Amino acid sequence: MSVPSDIAAARAAILERIAHAANAAGRAPESVTLTAVSKLQPDDRVEAMLAAGQRVFGENRVQEAQRRWVDRRGGFTDLSLRLIGPLQSNKASEAVALFDTIETMDREKLAAALAEAIQKLGRAPEILIQVNTGEEAQKSGVVPLEADAFIKAARETYGLPITGLMCIPPVDEEPAMHFALLAKIAARNGLAVLSMGMSDDFETAIRFGATHVRVGSALFGARPLTEP
Ligand SMILES: *Cc1c(COP(=O)(O)O)cnc(C)c1O
Repeated sequence: MSVPSDIAAARAAILERIAHAANAAGRAPESVTLTAVSKLQPDDRVEAMLAAGQRVFGENRVQEAQRRWVDRRGGFTDLSLRLIGPLQSNKASEAVALFDTIETMDREKLAAALAEAIQKLGRAPEILIQVNTGEEAQKSGVVPLEADAFIKAARETYGLPITGLMCIPPVDEEPAMHFALLAKIAARNGLAVLSMGMSDDFETAIRFGATHVRVGSALFGARPLTEP
């Protein structure tokens, strides 16, 4: 895909598919937010996405996100930045300072670090808990059986503003059962936000209740293999 005019068209097409999937599920299209996953994308594509009106962006790494957004964000009061990659405890302060939402909280040590950073900086991003629905060894996230207890601890022990859950289903499995499981855990814990669905499966995720879909390559084109 070439830039930048195709970016606006790609965004319009994805928004159209989101609206269609929402309508088909009997949901309002506005109940689904498009998170544009800008990780590893060249700046000209990100600029084109901003020019097209996109304001919600997802980034995988704190450092890359700082490089891209610290200066840019001043120009956009309505920008919303979401951390969707794993977070190390020693980067908690930097993440709290930059992001509006942190989607990948998954362990007590990180909960403690985030609570401390929020206290110190006087700024509290929304926090989602990542659930490793496929129980994959290489993937971050709390396993489903421990999710209820972890959500409770995050709220009560650490006082964190937990608003929802996030998952990344295994690549080689039908995603629907993972989306259904995440929705079930969220419902029984009174959590309204569900970040699930990527380029290949966001319509299925919407059918199962996704409130935020994380779309990268289908919006921006394929990612370069190395950091810009
Ligand atoms: C990269 C990434 C995405 C976007 O993936 P695409 O397949 O390019 O849409 C979504 N979520 C997470 C957590 C990611 O790391």
